[in-house]
Amino acid sequence: MILIVEDEPLVSDMVCLNLEHAGYDVQACTTAEAALAHVPNAELLILDRMLPGMDGLAFARHLRAAGVATPILMLTARGEVAARVAGLDAGADDYLAKPFAMPELLARVRALRRRAQDAAPRPPAQTGSAPGSAPRTLRFDKYTVNLNTREALTNDGVEVLTETECQLLVYFHDHAGDMLSRADILESVWGMDKFPTARTVDNYVLRLRKLFEPDPENPRYLITVRGRGYVFRPESTA
Ligand code: CA
Repeated sequence: MILIVEDEPLVSDMVCLNLEHAGYDVQACTTAEAALAHVPNAELLILDRMLPGMDGLAFARHLRAAGVATPILMLTARGEVAARVAGLDAGADDYLAKPFAMPELLARVRALRRRAQDAAPRPPAQTGSAPGSAPRTLRFDKYTVNLNTREALTNDGVEVLTETECQLLVYFHDHAGDMLSRADILESVWGMDKFPTARTVDNYVLRLRKLFEPDPENPRYLITVRGRGYVFRPESTA
């Protein structure tokens, strides 16, 4: 979820609308005080510098002092170097001067999320081997996927997966156990600059379930988390 703290309704509404359209879950608050309760669930904060009550700078400082590492994109008044520096000094990771173009905001959001994901420690993949060594194979339950040839042993026998099906499966596999939003999946597998929608992800997941779930109607491995996205649990024994 992306948390936006902004007291100007016009700005807040536009940002929310654009983020939601891009597939993100969004929570909007008009004060830092109200936002505090949502911080633990936020993967990213968009924080206006000028707020009633505790201002954006003080809020960023407060969060960093409390050990909150969530990326912060600070919205500042136009062109004030001092304000930008103050924002970064207070613990913001990036800033955007008002008025800004929505594509730029979305690009900053993508960059910050990417940076956060790259910084997060990743558990090593449970199967497969280092890139370049052959052949890399995914295995779970009775299924196998040869990632070099994209040949897979599925419910329908041996099938050759498409490149995208393969990439999606690898992405789920490499993030086993993680809650993956449709936006995460779209960005990592498709890239946000193409034009798939959240529905595209759902359709691919249906296809993967048909191939790799013992009972596709009652998935055991590729689980839907209502309102949030998907979790892949290859070790599920349920
Ligand atoms: Ca404001």
